[in-house]
Amino acid sequence: MELLVERKVVSSALGKSNLPGLDYTLNPYIGCSHGCIYCYARLYCEKRIAENWGKIVVVKENIAEILAKEVVKKRRGVVGLSTITDAYQSIEAEEKITRELLRLLLDNYFKVSIQTKSSLLLRDLDILCEKKELVDVGFTITTLDEKIAKILEPMASNPSERVKALEKISAEGIKTWIFLGPIIPEISEESFDEIVEIAKATNSLLYYDKFRIKPFMTSGIVKELAEKAKKVEWKEVAKKLKDICKSKGVEFASGFGDL
Ligand code: SF4
Repeated sequence: MELLVERKVVSSALGKSNLPGLDYTLNPYIGCSHGCIYCYARLYCEKRIAENWGKIVVVKENIAEILAKEVVKKRRGVVGLSTITDAYQSIEAEEKITRELLRLLLDNYFKVSIQTKSSLLLRDLDILCEKKELVDVGFTITTLDEKIAKILEPMASNPSERVKALEKISAEGIKTWIFLGPIIPEISEESFDEIVEIAKATNSLLYYDKFRIKPFMTSGIVKELAEKAKKVEWKEVAKKLKDICKSKGVEFASGFGDL
């Protein structure tokens, strides 16, 4: 699939966060080439990008320059990298903007909480290892079925690559977590046992969230999933997951409040 890359000059880098545990948000790109069919981030983008989700990415070309000014002025806090894009989507391999932002944040003693679906994050292991105490890394895993993941999250690293990256980071002594969300109706549950096992093996906290039905889910597979999601007893699904976590001694938390 051809990716349309655009560039933009921005006037601010750090955004105020309303997300739990984060003081700031930092998004080096607008749009995300991973193209997850359920992605809610499109709700925060202009219509043109939302309607062509996964096909247009805007590079915030001067964001590192702006962040360099902000990190000396702003109060220290936890920065969520990233919240409405994936900071390690494929274009980052050439742009290296995320790498620069990480360096700036950690050199200035901001804490960084990274969430990704890409093993490209391993490229920055050197920087992460220098300031382990300031960093936590989360991988989103909704299923371990590679074929299904290719349909749901077409351009993200496949689940086994994410797991390998998670193991590597955890082995370096960096705090890790897994985001099992959204829980895909009739799909994610198949992987519950294994995902909890991975959380245990990597000493990762397991966050979860239900599949949230959004107005854009009007056609194709995502529409079918939204229809199925209406019938799911989320409290039961959450209980099943929590019981597995308890039986294996894995710490868990709901990502956005109780289901
Ligand atoms: S990786 Fe995250 S931001 Fe990117 S499309 Fe998937 S859910 Fe959206």
